[in-house]
Amino acid sequence: MMNNIAIFPGSFDPITLGHVSVIRRAIPLFDKIIISIGINSEKKHMFDMEQRKSWIEKIFQDEEKIIVESFTGLTVNFCKDRNARFILRGLRTAADFEFERGIGQVNKKLNPNIDTIFLLTEPEYTPISSSIVRDVIRNNGDISQMVPKEVLKDLKIA
Ligand code: ADP
Repeated sequence: MMNNIAIFPGSFDPITLGHVSVIRRAIPLFDKIIISIGINSEKKHMFDMEQRKSWIEKIFQDEEKIIVESFTGLTVNFCKDRNARFILRGLRTAADFEFERGIGQVNKKLNPNIDTIFLLTEPEYTPISSSIVRDVIRNNGDISQMVPKEVLKDLKIA
């Protein structure tokens, strides 16, 4: 049997309920999902890699199909290293679509064996992004409806 492995790449700074919803709904589709935290030196992050990774591991500790890794370089190269034929992404809005279309089509040129699979966001999570969560945190707002309890607990605002 073919092993269907997917990469779910992102910054996850921090992981949100929107991410979790996409990941949970993708579990039945794949044999393994590698949640892949991109190391991007150009992007300023709020939470360090260890913290972001440990939140995701805690959230999915009972899911045998899920592992968490960090990676650098091109996503398609990381896919090849891990034998993954699929890149999983979430779609919130038309703006997401246009952005993802570009990346997905370039990835297809870089490696024709890899396909990007999209899952629609659940309506209540459409306005949630990691950058909005970071903004609300900076301004001492309530993020309890935006991130999983594992994240809330560590921020001591649960
Ligand atoms: P990036 O830095 O690549 O945008 P993110 O961590 O912001 O990484 O997002 C990773 C993936 O999760 C992307 O496919 C993004 O569209 C998706 N995503 C982000 N927020 C949501 C949400 N609220 N609902 C569904 N998918 C989302």
